[in-house]
Amino acid sequence: MAHALAEQVLHGAAVPQRRAIAKSITLLESTRPDHRAQGDQLLTQLLPHTGNSFRLGISGVPGVGKSTFIEALGLFLIGQGHRVAVLTIDPSSSVSGGSILGDKTRMEQLSVHEKAYIRPSPSGGTLGGVAEKTREAMLVCEAAGYDVVIVETVGVGQSETAVAGMTDMFVLMQLPNAGDDLQAIKKGVMELADLVVINKADLDADAATRAQAQITSALRLLTQQGRDRGRWQPQVLQLSALKAVGVDAFWATVCRFRELQSADGRLPARRRQQALAWMWERIEAGLKQAFRQDPAVRDLLPELTGAVEAGRLPASTAARRLLGAFRPDGAVAAGGGAAGPET
Ligand code: GDP
Repeated sequence: MAHALAEQVLHGAAVPQRRAIAKSITLLESTRPDHRAQGDQLLTQLLPHTGNSFRLGISGVPGVGKSTFIEALGLFLIGQGHRVAVLTIDPSSSVSGGSILGDKTRMEQLSVHEKAYIRPSPSGGTLGGVAEKTREAMLVCEAAGYDVVIVETVGVGQSETAVAGMTDMFVLMQLPNAGDDLQAIKKGVMELADLVVINKADLDADAATRAQAQITSALRLLTQQGRDRGRWQPQVLQLSALKAVGVDAFWATVCRFRELQSADGRLPARRRQQALAWMWERIEAGLKQAFRQDPAVRDLLPELTGAVEAGRLPASTAARRLLGAFRPDGAVAAGGGAAGPET
């Protein structure tokens, strides 16, 4: 089945291909061990055909204008001959079952366009699990020939780090007046940004210009200590998503970033590093899950946690004894699926 699906994703005509993408992503989102095995097979078949897109991460607080902007950008890119996939990571749907990104139809024109593919956030599981599913959905879209993949998230929780960790470029959207630049600096999100855009510049041009100057100087300080970006200095742009003003300048800046980072090998290096970091993150999640499911660990756990809580046993001793009792059997570690509900 995985083979037939992969064929359709890679070579199907428009409608069957779209169906095959949706089916593939649903298969990859499933936590059933047999689905997981088929999903692994599918991904392995698709992998040689992935990697040819530009992966753009976009984050910002609810209401900043992400969906308005992605709609304008997506339509602009399609006009330039691109195919655009939009995936979302909504941390609220994984924690509380609620959705900050909303169930209303977002991106009305883009969502019905034949050259766009939009997939809402997977729900359930931990942020790590949700991010894993999104990362895999991204690979499916790439194999199907979408050459710009946008991964969107909201500026709450840890999801920005996850998105910055799976994309080539991370863009932070800000409002001109909200002081959320301070919030972003405090949370360490600002230093993840390769580009900051100030949206709704049409509402108050002066405020937007002030915010642009403030954030520009904040970024200079932050990036002195931050990630090595070579010749790229993070920039700040103003735009109006609603009026589609500044979208072309935004894309020109993205292309300039891509050129510079490709020329000195930083882009492929970033992807290699991301893939390895991802592997280790998933190994840790899988081990933790297997550890908690291990019968000997389960037997010992109540007694030892009680002893640590009561101050009778040092935490490090309890940890050593629990690790000593842990007898991983391959089937649990591999079959449990790292995307499962690890706690
Ligand atoms: P999201 O929650 O970040 O996806 O934000 P939305 O795209 O849903 O936008 C929230 C509200 O802001 C909507 O009412 C939009 O029409 C409005 N909006 C978005 N971009 C702009 C803009 O550039 N200028 C103005 N004036 N309003 C905007």
